[in-house]
Amino acid sequence: MAKQDSKNNIKVLGAYGGKATNMELTSLQLSKEIVLDAGNLIGGLGNGIRNINHIFITHAHLDHINDIGFLIDATFESRTTPLKIYAQKNTLDSIKKHILNWEIWPDFTQINLIGTQQPSIELVEIQLDETIEIHDCKIKAIPNNHTPSSNGFVIEKNNTSSILFTSDTYCCDSIWEEANNNPKITAIIVDVSFPSRMEQLAYDSKHLTPSLLEEELKKLKRDDISIYVNHIKPSYKLEVVTEIIKSNLLLNGGNILEAQDVIDF
Ligand SMILES: [Zn+2]
Ligand SMILES: [Zn+2]
Repeated sequence: MAKQDSKNNIKVLGAYGGKATNMELTSLQLSKEIVLDAGNLIGGLGNGIRNINHIFITHAHLDHINDIGFLIDATFESRTTPLKIYAQKNTLDSIKKHILNWEIWPDFTQINLIGTQQPSIELVEIQLDETIEIHDCKIKAIPNNHTPSSNGFVIEKNNTSSILFTSDTYCCDSIWEEANNNPKITAIIVDVSFPSRMEQLAYDSKHLTPSLLEEELKKLKRDDISIYVNHIKPSYKLEVVTEIIKSNLLLNGGNILEAQDVIDF
């Protein structure tokens, strides 16, 4: 399918799988009100944090949920509607049990917005393959291969084009089948965390390396999809970037993502 003249885009707020100077944790901004993963909302959004009403979470690892507690804390007084957190059941349970538990952070699901009977955080359970529609965005959770309850997302905007975010993942068929079967997908953001020499650690922690991605890309039966990479572990940045470029994995104008990049799709 020819790439259309679409103005759809999303903004990268953080693109790494660990923290280091000028390397921010995973988050994407889909629209003024909607973000996906919460690794770097405060630093990435600045004053824009007050507009965020919907956070979609791929899994409960710390680099993806880090800023949920700080965002509700910073916007509590100005909120008029609950901050909605969307994720699969196990992920919501983990956030509630281990973060919003009054010990690590207050349980904002039990704290009402000022002058209302509405909670300041509302946890919304989603299912795999379910599509949630908010304004001009359709967001669908898809299976990946990382933790038992992790998922990626396909984001469609304005009923025109879609971008697929694998989130953290090891080898799997579901992501590539989704891309092969959905002609609206024009770009994929994929996890490459470790250099190829660390394949055992990549397997144990369920992430990809450049050589594993090269193998995975053989499952993609289309030649019109842009491939973007994120989630590099900061300690291995130079090595991973060198391998990705040498193996020519950034297809159709894709890139290695950095905070504040805007991806057109
Ligand atoms: Zn991660
Ligand atoms: Zn993870």
